[in-house]
Amino acid sequence: MPLPKLFIPGPVDISPETFQAMCQPMIGHRGADFEALYASIQPGLQQILGTSKPVYISTSSAWGVMEGAIRNLVQTKVLNLCCGAFSDKWYGVARSCGKQAEKIQVEWGQAIDPAAVKSKLEEGAFDTVTLVHNETSTGVMNPLKEISEVVKSFPGVLLVVDTVSSLSAVPTPVDELNVDVLLAGVQKALALPPGLAVFTASEAALERAATTEGRGYYFDFLEFAKNGEKNNTPSTPAISLLYALKQKVDEILAEGLQARYDRHAQLNNQVHAWADQYGIKNFAPEGFESKSLSCFTTPENLDLSGFIKAVRQKHNILINGGYGKIKGTTFRISNMGNETEASINEMLAALDDVIPEFLS
Ligand SMILES: *Cc1c(COP(=O)(O)O)cnc(C)c1O
Repeated sequence: MPLPKLFIPGPVDISPETFQAMCQPMIGHRGADFEALYASIQPGLQQILGTSKPVYISTSSAWGVMEGAIRNLVQTKVLNLCCGAFSDKWYGVARSCGKQAEKIQVEWGQAIDPAAVKSKLEEGAFDTVTLVHNETSTGVMNPLKEISEVVKSFPGVLLVVDTVSSLSAVPTPVDELNVDVLLAGVQKALALPPGLAVFTASEAALERAATTEGRGYYFDFLEFAKNGEKNNTPSTPAISLLYALKQKVDEILAEGLQARYDRHAQLNNQVHAWADQYGIKNFAPEGFESKSLSCFTTPENLDLSGFIKAVRQKHNILINGGYGKIKGTTFRISNMGNETEASINEMLAALDDVIPEFLS
């Protein structure tokens, strides 16, 4: 049996073109060939992130840079905006880095309220805010623009935004939104194999980092800035993945960013229309649904684990049975990355084929 086609929200399915791109000869990372490769990816990444600043490339998963942002930026206290597994964990990570941290915690499935962020920041004492834009565990997309406007109205407070499952699926323009650090791992919305994260750092973020003690080395933003000027990385990067990143960035620009956003919105609608037929409801409130994946509340009359198993056994397609404390009571279907109208229809037809057997 071949491995199943993935419709889980990360890692997602990888295209043959990406695999092909990775099969290129190794090059020395302190030489002209590498610098040319690095430089060739920059303009495209800048366009995708909506920034004129350099985009740094970290050989790590997203958490490397998420923890790095805490270590580089937090001097007094960080406010973690928590609404699901990834955003909640950021608070724990901040504390485990020995930083002062407080959180705004909303129930899983709810979005962060910009007004609550404003009241909390009015208490003072905070110098950094973390936000997960698209909470992959609950399928909630937070109001990034409104929250960034609130945070930016407090001088000296830096905003760090995780766009792991939204970058290139919906617009997240760094410069326009005034985000200090925007980061993403590449194995979700960017549809690459895991192992890289991309991120930006504003001037204010780099200035802050310069006076923050205990930044360490591997995720020191100043090291990334210094090496980035020479089209390089602080330590040996995953060069094969950079080849893949180059291929993907070129492909995204060839598709066109707006066309890519439109495709994600349309595919997401297709999945929602499927769910409507069965009366299956989004876990996210109306208006805050993710565009790159769907998280549904499991109907009481559905045997979810039997359903998911049968979809895999009969059709070799994998969907996800919920994450963390909402495992089983929710399930998730990804439409991010390389999916098309045809691939989503094929997946939905497989669900249609199997589901009657598991509804009571
Ligand atoms: C998957 C995910 C992460 C964690 O990524 P790792 O690759 O495991 O470090 C962080 N944030 C969001 C929103 C995610 O979806």
